[in-house]
Amino acid sequence: MAVKIHPAVDNGVKPGSANFAGGTLTCKCTSSPVTVSLKGNVSFNHVCGCTKCWKPEGATFAQIAVTGKDNVSVTANAQKLKVVDPSAAIQRHACSVCGVHLYGRIENKNHPFYGFDFVHTELSKESGWAPPEFAAFVSSIIESGTKPDQMGAVRARLKELKLEPYDCLNPALMDAIATHTAKAKGVLAA
Ligand SMILES: [Zn+2]
Ligand SMILES: [Zn+2]
Repeated sequence: MAVKIHPAVDNGVKPGSANFAGGTLTCKCTSSPVTVSLKGNVSFNHVCGCTKCWKPEGATFAQIAVTGKDNVSVTANAQKLKVVDPSAAIQRHACSVCGVHLYGRIENKNHPFYGFDFVHTELSKESGWAPPEFAAFVSSIIESGTKPDQMGAVRARLKELKLEPYDCLNPALMDAIATHTAKAKGVLAA
């Protein structure tokens, strides 16, 4: 049996479409769902093994992408949203009824990713979203129950799907964090 990663990639990663205009994320509630409109396509879509990202039932990884916070607007039932952990760097706004995370926002202006929101494009019916490009925080799936001896098979499957496995973020995002820190320290000119 093939190693399960996430329903959006288990049958192969689907390509996105150029000039995709965006879409609407909808939580899983059958009545009065929360909806969030996203303007334009997302960037840095990836699968994530951390224990904080929302994932659908049975998935080993979450699928999560980045967009500018000005592209995100709650369009229905905002009153159902609640921040999962107000002390976390990423404030994950979840539906208090079905538990789905609609968007994660960074309120700390000094955070390297301030200005970006984290979203799950699988909550939208539209197709054309930028596909996942890599796998982040792969080793962390052990914390949610994957056996350590399965990690070789998981990483092999990720490579087969061309989702390069990393145990933190990918090099472009790790470089962005380090650049931000170097500028804050004065090591690099701002
Ligand atoms: Zn809901
Ligand atoms: Zn995560």
